[in-house]
Amino acid sequence: MTAVGTAARTARLRVGGAWREASDGASFDVRDPATSAAIGRVADATPADAIAALDSAVATAPAWVATPPRERADLLRAWYEALVAATDELAELMTLEMGKPLAESRGEVRYGAEFVRWYAEEAVRIEGATATAADGSGEVKTVREPVGPCLLVTPWNFPLAMVTRKLAPALAAGCTAIVKPAQQTPLTALRLVRMLEQAGLPPGVVSILPTTRSADVVGALLRDRRLRKLSFTGSTAVGRTLLAGAAPNVLRVSMELGGNAPFIVLDDADVEAAVEGALVAKLRNNGEACTAANRFLVAERIEPAFSARLAERMADVRVGHGSDPATQLGPLIDAHAAEGVHALVQDAVGAGAELLTGGAPLVDLGESFYPPTVLRGAAPGARIWDEEIFGPVAPVRAVASDAEAIALANASEVGLAAYVYGGELGRALRVAGALEVGMDAVNRGTVSNPQAPFGGVKHSGLGREGGRHGIDEYLETKYLAVEA
Ligand code: NAP
Repeated sequence: MTAVGTAARTARLRVGGAWREASDGASFDVRDPATSAAIGRVADATPADAIAALDSAVATAPAWVATPPRERADLLRAWYEALVAATDELAELMTLEMGKPLAESRGEVRYGAEFVRWYAEEAVRIEGATATAADGSGEVKTVREPVGPCLLVTPWNFPLAMVTRKLAPALAAGCTAIVKPAQQTPLTALRLVRMLEQAGLPPGVVSILPTTRSADVVGALLRDRRLRKLSFTGSTAVGRTLLAGAAPNVLRVSMELGGNAPFIVLDDADVEAAVEGALVAKLRNNGEACTAANRFLVAERIEPAFSARLAERMADVRVGHGSDPATQLGPLIDAHAAEGVHALVQDAVGAGAELLTGGAPLVDLGESFYPPTVLRGAAPGARIWDEEIFGPVAPVRAVASDAEAIALANASEVGLAAYVYGGELGRALRVAGALEVGMDAVNRGTVSNPQAPFGGVKHSGLGREGGRHGIDEYLETKYLAVEA
C-alpha cells in the first residue's frame, strides 16, 4: 500500500474550484472491507454544499459549452493518460476501499480509463443534420446541445469505472457535473477528480460530494430546477425513489439498475468451457457485479456434470485480502453484505437445495468473507432465484428444454445481462435473442466493453452508457425550422 499517499486518505469536498471541508465541519471514516479498519477520513457533504456545487455548475456552464470541443477532447485525453500512468496507485486504493483483488482493480483502471479515451474521441464528433423538408417548404436543421448541469450518482462496486462512464461523456458533451460517489468508496472518486483538475479542468466545472447524507444531498439537488439531468447507477429500489424525485422537475434521467442474470447452458455446450465462463461470470468483482450470473439454468442431460465440475473449480478458488497477489476472491463490501448472502443460502437450503461446496461464512478471515458456493435444486420460490445475490454463490437448476430455460430466464422483473453457452451457434443465438435483457454474452463469461452500449430493460434501467450511444444521454436535439 506504499503508493497510496495520505493526501488521498484524508480528503475534502470539491465544491466548484475549491477543495474544502463540509459546511457543518462533519467528516466520516472510510473502511477496508477486509479488516473493517479505518483507512481514510473524508468530508461529509451537506445539502448546503450541494447547492453551492450547483451554483458553480450553473455559473460555469456557459463558458464550458463555449469551450471548443477540441479543447474538451484534449483535457479528456490528458486525464486518460494520467489515469493509465497511475494504474498501480489507483488499483491499490480501490482494492483498499472496496476489497476486489488487485489484478481486478488494475483491470478496472484500464476499463474505466478507456471510457475517458473514447469520449475524448467523441467530443469532436457531435454532429447535427440538415435536410430539405419533404414538402419543399424549407430546411429541417438539427443541432445537438448539452443537457446542462448533471448529477452523477455512483455505486461502490466499481468505484472508478462508474464515475468515468458518466463523467467523461458529460464533459465531452459540454455539460458541467456534480459527482456523488458511494459512501463506502469515495477515495478513488476523489482521486480521479484531483487528477482531472491536474490535467487542466477549469474551476467550477466538476464538483464532488462524498456524503453519508445521500438522500438529503441528492434530494436538495433534484428539487432545484437548475439541475437538468440525473444519471444514476445502483439498486433498482433506490433508482425508483430517485425517478420519483426527478419527476417534479421533469429531469432527463439515465438509470443503470440491478440485475439477475441467467446463465443458460444448452445440452450441446462444451461443459468445460461453460464452467470456465461460469467462474468468470460469477466471481468477477467478488461476485458483486450487476452483470454477475445469478441463476444457472442447465440442460438436464449435462447438469450433473456441470454442477460437479463447477463445485470442484469453485472450491479451489483462493479467498483472502485483495492486496495479496495470490487472492482470487476478496471480501464482500461489509459484514452486512456477507450476512445477507448467507441468509439467501440458508433460505435456499431450507427450500431443498443441495450444498455442493461453500455455504458457511469464512469467519477466520474476517466478518466480510464468504466462500465460493454452489447449490443445486433449490425449489422455485426460494429467494435466491428472485433476488440479486451480490456474492460468490451459484444456484444451479436443471431445465428440460431450451423453451423452459427461456421462460425461466424471462420470469424476472429485471433484465440487464444474460449468458448462453451452446455448441451450435445458430441455436445459441436464437436462445440469446429470445431473452428479455439489454446485453447477451454468447459462449463467453463477460459482456462489459467500453465500446458497447451498456444497459438493461424492464426494471434494470433506462438509457445506455458507453460507446457512441453513451454521449447521447448528455445531449438534447434541437430542431430549427429554416426558411430557405
Ligand atoms: P445503492 O444502495 O442503490 O447506492 C447507489 C448510490 O446511490 C450510492 O451513491 C448511494 O449512496 C446512493 N443512494 C443510496 N440511497 C439513496 C437515496 N435514498 N437517495 C439518494 N442517493 C442514494 O446501490 P449499491 O449497493 O451502492 O450498488 C449495488 C447496486 O448497483 C446493485 O443493485 C447493482 O446491480 C447495481 N449496479 C448496476 C450497474 C449497472 O450498470 N446497471 C452497475 C453497477 C451496479 P450511499 O453510498 O450513501 O448509500
